[in-house]
Amino acid sequence: MNAYSQLITALRLLPNVGVKTAQRMAHTLLHQNRAGAAQLVQALDNALKNIHNCQMCHDFCESELCAICANPQRDPSRLMIVQMPADVAAMEAARCHDGLYFVLMGQVNPAQEMDLSSIALQQLVARLSGSPVNEIIIATAHTAEGDATAYILAELFKEQPYKISRLARGIPLGSELEYVDAGTLAQAVYERNLLKETTGE
Ligand SMILES: [Zn+2]
Repeated sequence: MNAYSQLITALRLLPNVGVKTAQRMAHTLLHQNRAGAAQLVQALDNALKNIHNCQMCHDFCESELCAICANPQRDPSRLMIVQMPADVAAMEAARCHDGLYFVLMGQVNPAQEMDLSSIALQQLVARLSGSPVNEIIIATAHTAEGDATAYILAELFKEQPYKISRLARGIPLGSELEYVDAGTLAQAVYERNLLKETTGE
């Protein structure tokens, strides 16, 4: 494969990038903005070397623990489970959750036989083991994938003592959390629906 074909193939690894879009990107990178292309290479290389998953919440971070997990002011008894790092940023901007987070780094696609490998379930179970968490807030989007993910999580914790709730449907149907404005998001957290009350230890 020549260098140009290799570049097109690599660009197509990005979500929603087909051949035509990849060709336009290659034109920008190789013809219009070679300095920008070098900057992209450097940023990507730096990110791959330095960004890992936080040992507690699985979010992207550059040290063992992210700033939120390392903050002693956060309430360790309340864990909000979100799909993507951008959801944490949206929740933090809405200032409606003072507990900790867990980032699944994906969602379950009900059209693909509920393949669970797309979410960090093992890491979540390990995170909860022996932790002081007593309330879990499922903050997946109200989309088919978000609903399927919430269902899997609710099933996973069915026999566990946690109080479990899910974000209210104040969020417009089908929208991803990161595109919801802070006020709507905060309302969905405050009006969250209880799925299961705390059960005895
Ligand atoms: Zn963290």
